[in-house]
Amino acid sequence: MTATPGRIPTLDDLGDVAGKRVLVRTDFNVPMETSATGERIITDDFRIRAALPTINWLTERGATVVTASHLGRPKGQSNPKYSMAPVRTRLAELAPGVELLENLRFDPGEEGNDPSFVARLTAGIDAFVDDAFGACHRAHASIVGPPQTLPSAMGLLLQKEVDVLLGLRNHPKHPFVAVLGGSKISDKLGVVEALLDVVDALVIGGAMCFTFLAAQGYPIGASLWEPDQVETCRRLLVVAAERGKTIHLPEDIVGLDADSNYATYGIRLPEGAKGFDIGPGSAAAFSDIIMEARTVFWNGPMGMFEDDRFAAGTLTVAQAMADTKAFTVVGGGDSAAALAQFRLDDEVDHVSTGGGASLELLELGDLPGLEALRKAPNAHG
Ligand code: ADP
Ligand code: MG
Repeated sequence: MTATPGRIPTLDDLGDVAGKRVLVRTDFNVPMETSATGERIITDDFRIRAALPTINWLTERGATVVTASHLGRPKGQSNPKYSMAPVRTRLAELAPGVELLENLRFDPGEEGNDPSFVARLTAGIDAFVDDAFGACHRAHASIVGPPQTLPSAMGLLLQKEVDVLLGLRNHPKHPFVAVLGGSKISDKLGVVEALLDVVDALVIGGAMCFTFLAAQGYPIGASLWEPDQVETCRRLLVVAAERGKTIHLPEDIVGLDADSNYATYGIRLPEGAKGFDIGPGSAAAFSDIIMEARTVFWNGPMGMFEDDRFAAGTLTVAQAMADTKAFTVVGGGDSAAALAQFRLDDEVDHVSTGGGASLELLELGDLPGLEALRKAPNAHG
C-alpha cells in the first residue's frame, strides 16, 4: 500500500491569524424539517456544534471567521428551502460574530469548480481552513479552490477524521474486522475490495448480503439484491479465500413471507419471501466476532432498522460495538443514525461525520480536498 505523500498543514501552519479574515469551509448540511407554519427548523444541530472547536481556535487567536457550507441539493439555484438563514441564527447563538455565507450550492460554480466562483469566495480572505470532511471527496470550488492561492489548513474535525481513518487503513491493531451492511453492494464495492487488503475478516449483513448469498447459490426469495453484482461477489469470495480472509455471511434471516407475515428463516429463503434483517443466530455470531476483534470498522445497518420489526440485528451489532474493547469506528449516515437512535453513539471511539468521504478515504487513502491542502502555498515537507 502506498503511503500518502506529503503532510497536510494543520492550524498551527497558518502562522499568526490575529487580525486576519479566515474562510472556514464547514459541513453545516444539517437535517431540517418544515413546521406547520412553513418555517424551516433544524432537527439536529450536531454539525454546527462540531465546528465550534475550530471556530473557537481561530477567534481566540484574534481571527475574524467567515464560514461557508452547502445545505441539501439546490442544484445551482437559489431556493428558500435550502437557505442558510436558520443555520445562521443557530450559529449566532453558539459563536457570536462569526459570519456565514449563503448556501454554496446556490451557485453552479460550486459543484462546477468554477475559478471565478473561487475568486469570489476568496476575495478579501487571508487564509483558508477546511473542516468539512463530508465534502472532501468532492472536487468542488470551496474544497479545492481556496488552497490554490491561500495559506490553508485542515480544521480540528477534519484532522481527527484523517487521523482515525488513515490509522485504520495504515496501521490497525489486529484482528481488524469490517462489518458492512446497508442497501447496495455496488455503492461499496471499492471499499470492500480495499478492505480485503487490510482486514482479517469481513462481516456482511444488510441487503448487501443477499447478493453474496446468491453468489454462493442460496435461494434468496424476493429480497433486495443486485443481479449484476453477483459475479463480483463471487470473485470477492474467491479473493478473500486466497488471501486467508474470512467473509462471514448470515446463517439466518428475518423478514416477511409471500403473504407479508413476519417470519424467521435459515439461510434459504422460500419463493416470495423478503429478507429485511439478519436473524438472531447471525446477530449473536457477528457480536462474538466484534467482541474478539481489536479494531472494528462498521458501515451500513444490518437490516431495515427504521422498521422496529427489523431493527434487532442492527441493535445487536451496535451493542457489540459499544461493549467490545476494540477500537471502534462507525462511518455512514444511516449507521450513525442507527447508533444515535439506540443512544450508543457515545459508546464507540469515533463516529465519522462523512459517509461517502469515509469510505473513499479508506478505499483510496486520499481525497481531493486533502490533496488540495497538501499543495497549499504554506504546505511544506
Ligand atoms: P449507510 O448510510 O450507513 O452507509 P446505506 O445508505 O448503505 O448505509 O444503507 C442504509 C439503508 O439500507 C437503510 O435505509 C436500511 O433500511 C437499508 N437496508 C438494510 N438492510 C436492508 C434489507 N435487508 N432490505 C432492504 N433495505 C435494507
Ligand atoms: Mg445511507
